[in-house]
Formats: sequence, C-alpha cells, structure tokens
Amino acid sequence: MPRLCDICNDARAIVRRPKTAQSICKECFFHVFETEVHNTIVDSNLFKPGDRVGIGASGGKDSTVLAYVMKTLNDRYSYGLDLYLLSVDEGISGYRDDSLETVKRNKEQYGLPLLIVSYEQLYGWSMDSIVAAVGRKNNCTFCGVFRRQALDRGALMLDLDHIVTGHNADDVAETILMNIFRGDISRLGRCTEIATTGEGYIVRSKPFKYAYEKEIVMYAYLRRLDYFSTECTYSPNAYRGYAREFLKKLERVRPSAILDIIHSGEAMHVAKDVQLPSLDRCQRCGYISSNSICKACVLLEGLERGIPKLGISRTKQDVEAGPRESDLVHFEKLRQDALEMRKTRQNSAACPQSACACRSESGTENCS
Ligand SMILES: [Zn+2]
Ligand SMILES: [Zn+2]
Repeated sequence: MPRLCDICNDARAIVRRPKTAQSICKECFFHVFETEVHNTIVDSNLFKPGDRVGIGASGGKDSTVLAYVMKTLNDRYSYGLDLYLLSVDEGISGYRDDSLETVKRNKEQYGLPLLIVSYEQLYGWSMDSIVAAVGRKNNCTFCGVFRRQALDRGALMLDLDHIVTGHNADDVAETILMNIFRGDISRLGRCTEIATTGEGYIVRSKPFKYAYEKEIVMYAYLRRLDYFSTECTYSPNAYRGYAREFLKKLERVRPSAILDIIHSGEAMHVAKDVQLPSLDRCQRCGYISSNSICKACVLLEGLERGIPKLGISRTKQDVEAGPRESDLVHFEKLRQDALEMRKTRQNSAACPQSACACRSESGTENCS
C-alpha cells in the first residue's frame, strides 16, 4: 500500500522534505513551501503596498522559482506590489545569452515586465572581453563586484524600491561559514540580515533565506518551471566551493545543520567597542563603498590601464584617488533621474495600469 501524506493523510506521499523529514504529497509540498516563504515575508515586514519590486532574474532555478512564488503570493495575499524582472547580462557567450532566453520566456509566462542591463553597456566591458584580458584565474572577482552594482543600477533605471534575490538557506549558511573562517565580522553581521539597504535607499532582500536549495529544486521540478541549469562557463568561486562541500557533509549527518548555522549567525553580535569600516560613497561613480574609490572602479581602472591585477592584488592603495568625470556623470545622472521620478511619483497618483513600466504619473498622457 502506498504511503499517505503526513500532512493531509489523503493523497499519496511523493516527496520527503529535507527540512523536516516528513513524507508529503505534491499539493501539500507546494502549500508548505509557499506558506513558509509568505511567513518569512510577513514576519520580516519586507514590503509595503505599492512597492516597486525587482526580482533579480538569472534564468537559473532559484530566481525562476522566486519569480513564480513572488507572483503567486502577490496575487494570493494581495501584497499590492509592482513586480519586475531585472536581469544582468554579463556577456558570457554560451551561458548568459542562453539563460537570458529563459528569462525572456519567464517574462511571457508570468506576465512581468523585464529589464536587462549589460556589463557592456554599464562598464564598456563584457565578461568575455574581461576574461580575454585577465585570463580565467580572477575573473569571478570582476563578475561578483560588477553584478552587485549592475543590479543596483538597473533598479535605479526602473525606479525600484526593493530588489529580491534568489539566495537560499544553503547560500546564506555558506556565506556565514566563509565569513567566520575569514574572520570578516563586518560581513558576518550583514550576511545574516534578511534585508539590507544598498544604493542609498534600494532595499535588497532574500525571501528564500530559510528555503533549502533541495526544496527549491524539487519545487521547480514538480511545478515544471522553465529554468536554465548550466553552470557558468568560467571558473566557479573556489573558496565558496570549500564552504559548500563542508556544509553538504554537515547536512548529511544532520539535515537541520543549514538552519542551525543561520540561527547561530543571527545570534552573533559584534561587540560595541569594535570599530567597523564606515560606508561612504565612491568618489568616481557614487556607489556605496568603504574606500574612497569602490572596488568596481578600481577593477575597471586596472582593465583600462592594462594592469588587470589592480584591485585583486594589494596594490589598490596605489590608485590615484580623485573623481573621473565620465564615470561620475554616468551614475550620478541615473541617481538624479531616479530621485526626480520618485519625487514626482510621491506627489501624484501612480499610473493606473499596474503592469505598466512607463512611470507616467498622469496615468494616460504618456502611457502607451
Ligand atoms: Zn498532502
Ligand atoms: Zn565607483
């Protein structure tokens, strides 16, 4: 006789939840998975009605499931959010171009507006051209630094209040371990927070903070979601790889290890008398940075001067400080535009077409 679902005791159990070891049916799995994400959102007060929320969408399983679940919960519980898909095109042929095709299909499937920002457009360098210049060894450093800023810049273009990313519980636990191993206490504090404020006012959060990677894969599979599953063609982050391997071993012995690590990380506090680096703005591009020149600008300068090791090796202090007009103008303009739009938006009614990305305030005048 087939085993019945531990929750409804009615349908046949087809999945065993890694998180709780319950054997449950498909419908109950969807229900508990979605409800847990909803509870995370509500308990952390992540959104308020009318928020413009961008879903960082790569076409991979985490962000595809996130887009689906955000759309579902927004409809089901009337969050009142304007949802957008926001993708970064790093310019990696055979990888990102294919995964972006997936995002374009998701746009149609979920009926959400999509904005793609590219490294080429923002920095004048694609990852393919960066790898051609620096080789494969350090390219992930460039990609990580550039991606974070690219999302913020895309968010400014869409005048978003909030970016959600598909980081799951496994990612958060790995990051906590990495920061403990490195003794990086300022990052340790930030990485356990469900929401952080990035570029001035754009909040960034992880609604899947407590969702196990295995369950996200199961969810994508059982819902038959359309996602892209190839790994990046350039080398993976080696240090994270060690943390991941260690976490997988822990999980094998004790499945709750992932949540235990997150809860431990949340309970750690930096003593009051410990000096943390203060955050300021980059003198070149205006991005938030603990140095006078942000990491992306240091890396870009190295690329442009033909010394790509700049910012990777310890020579970043050698960079002559001082704003560079062209960079400053570019980002500052985006910021000003966004602030302008925000002001206008606050003073008048929003465009009545909820899916409209035009940000027209009068509603019909400019809105096509
Ligand atoms: Zn059931
Ligand atoms: Zn900068």
